[in-house]
Amino acid sequence: MLHTIAAFDRLGEENAFAVLARATALAHEGRDIVNLGIGQPDFRTPDHIVEAAIKALRDGHHGYTPANGLLATREAVVRRTLATTGVEVSPESVMILPGGKPTMFAAILMFGEPGAEILYPDPGFPIYRSMIEFTGAKPVPVPICEENGFAFSAEETLSLITPKTRLLILNSPANPTGGVTPRAEIEKLVKGLEKHPQVAVLSDEIYDVMTYDGQKHTSLLQFPEIRDRLVVLNGWSKTWAMTGWRMGWSIWPNGAKGAHLYDKVRKLAVNCWSCVNAPSQYAGIAAIDGPQDEVDRMMAAFDRRRRVVVEGLNAIPGISCITPKGAFYAFPNVSATGRKAKDLASALLEEAGVALIGGPDFGVLGEGYMRLSYANSEENILRALERIEVFLGKAP
Ligand code: PLP
Repeated sequence: MLHTIAAFDRLGEENAFAVLARATALAHEGRDIVNLGIGQPDFRTPDHIVEAAIKALRDGHHGYTPANGLLATREAVVRRTLATTGVEVSPESVMILPGGKPTMFAAILMFGEPGAEILYPDPGFPIYRSMIEFTGAKPVPVPICEENGFAFSAEETLSLITPKTRLLILNSPANPTGGVTPRAEIEKLVKGLEKHPQVAVLSDEIYDVMTYDGQKHTSLLQFPEIRDRLVVLNGWSKTWAMTGWRMGWSIWPNGAKGAHLYDKVRKLAVNCWSCVNAPSQYAGIAAIDGPQDEVDRMMAAFDRRRRVVVEGLNAIPGISCITPKGAFYAFPNVSATGRKAKDLASALLEEAGVALIGGPDFGVLGEGYMRLSYANSEENILRALERIEVFLGKAP
């Protein structure tokens, strides 16, 4: 139950933060560490966005803002949603929150309770499972497989739904695999969901514009059939390199049938964080409405590095890696090294000075894999690849 200390004991962690702490500690000891562990762009927030926040502070925007966000920020999200999905949402369905995670927290809290089942991707972002466990609901993993290009399978997902299922969590483009689920598979899933009206959907689309090879992201918002039970998570962290600003948005049902959901999350905000600070929200408007050339440059750099990473990993005996279609992660298969993925990740950090994350930190089905974030310079990526190869070459 939520109000017991035991619920807090069921909360998990994000091991990327623990690896970052260890990598930082080793670096302080004078070790040369290449960090491919953390999931944040290695670029600075573009200057015009920073300037917008400074201007907001100078203009005296120092006080509380509405719990659901400034109308101007919500309207910017409406414009951005129309531009990226072709769907017009109402500003009264847009919630501004301190990052992407609070949407996860709110949606899972709303549907999770003892006796309920929640479907989530495995391997997947570790906070999904942690939050499900917190609510006392049963976490039901949806297998995400390399053979399927790390896309989710509509058929398999639908086969896991029971009368107790309350929420289905989707994530494409995905962390930690870089998988992108094809539109046809999403269409099949939505069709199948018609038979299960008790199942709400949380679609984590925080990497929406981070796709490669001309692929276009499919948003669950493009399916009006499920709009009255759909929560879409998005935010500024990844696209505009703003992880530390704590700025996210989500789109909630606020129509005739689903009106209650938006008001519930607004009330949670009032009780929990009051509002998001004003300068960040002005920065958020500048991010959406301003020039996107730095975003394009960042994506071009990620694309180049993606090729370097995949080619480099596949040249190392014992490692194979499919080409990720989105986000900035590669998820190489390391099972042929004969080592447990977490042991390998930890040995690579301690002995070879390369920080990356063992696949099991993203779910039991992550065994045999490691997550490598290519949000680092090409030069550092090449150094890391060389170190991995040398390490595996001498390892017993
Ligand atoms: N969703 C996914 C899939 C992520 O990878 C992340 C961050 O790594 C988040 C949500 C959380 O984003 P934020 O830092 O804005 O809370």
